[in-house]
Amino acid sequence: MKHNISITTVTESKVKNVDFNNIPLGTTFTDHMFICDYNNGVWENPRIEPMGMIPTHPAAMALHYGQAIFEGMKATVDADGNPMLFRADKNAERLNFSADRMGMPSFPEDLFVEGLKQLVDLERNWIPPIDGSALYLRPFMYADEAFIGMRAATHFKFIIMASPAGPFFTKRIKLWAENKYIRAASGGTGEAKAAGNYAAAIRPTEYAKAKGYDQVLWLDAVEHNYIQEVGTMNIFFKVNGKFITPKRDGSILDGITRMSVIDILRDKGYDVTERAITIQEIRDASLDGTLEEAFGTGTAVGIAYIQEIAMGEHTIHVSDKSPVGLEVNDTLNAIKTGKIEDKFGWMVKIE
Ligand code: PMP
Repeated sequence: MKHNISITTVTESKVKNVDFNNIPLGTTFTDHMFICDYNNGVWENPRIEPMGMIPTHPAAMALHYGQAIFEGMKATVDADGNPMLFRADKNAERLNFSADRMGMPSFPEDLFVEGLKQLVDLERNWIPPIDGSALYLRPFMYADEAFIGMRAATHFKFIIMASPAGPFFTKRIKLWAENKYIRAASGGTGEAKAAGNYAAAIRPTEYAKAKGYDQVLWLDAVEHNYIQEVGTMNIFFKVNGKFITPKRDGSILDGITRMSVIDILRDKGYDVTERAITIQEIRDASLDGTLEEAFGTGTAVGIAYIQEIAMGEHTIHVSDKSPVGLEVNDTLNAIKTGKIEDKFGWMVKIE
């Protein structure tokens, strides 16, 4: 279905003020945003308009009851400068999974992709033409109905904004395996990309940083033994030549980088198993020398190598000898920039 998206453009783009070699993280926004309103059971008035403030009633339900979800994805350019999206259909599906869990309306998946395409097409000069850089896209939905009372809202906004992002040069990261606070429990909201999950992670992450660690490694809510995920990444280990990653059990985010890395690893001939993994078995593998590699995966960084994990008074050391994660990262980047054939059919072209 072709959607009629009305477009109001700025008179002068701000892109000329941006130094693509030095992009401050998360504070630069492009000229326009995509907006759609949900009223009386229908999404209406899809439009692209100049980026700007949105008047919000103090009783907007998202501010009180937290009906707020988001997505994160990137647009890149191919060798000829044509913009492309990575697996946008997966973000659309995940947004609707989150919406369902949080009692919010689903957003039409074709309009999600069409809105992204038209916004990125209009903002194509904002895609940094530098290797490893990209235009970060942030689709999100929140309850903007003014109402005090505990029920699902009936008015929502869906917005897509865009922000150029420089390359992430990650050093190997140090993780703090958290054994007091939890991120998600069975039956909770861990598999939804809900704003509240991130709010609950902020204080424990600050504590981990104060202790000298980069990110929290989240463990299960009951035994503090099963590994879930790390910061805003999923996690992979290579033990004895084979890859393992925590299986989806409702408490971890269904990462789009995770699913892509599994496909790339299998395509390269590696064995990948999704299963329950305990922190204790990772410690044992480190002690007997079979823990060859560990990395996090996510849209922001691609792949982030893990150097060590603090587990109570113990430190799990990860070898730096195995380079498979780096190869996978190179393959992912090459697909995203059209340098190798997109044999999985992941890229969405914007003509
Ligand atoms: N886990 C969490 C909690 C995240 O916020 C993210 C980032 N969206 C991920 C994992 C990785 O997901 P993706 O590969 O889709 O970016």
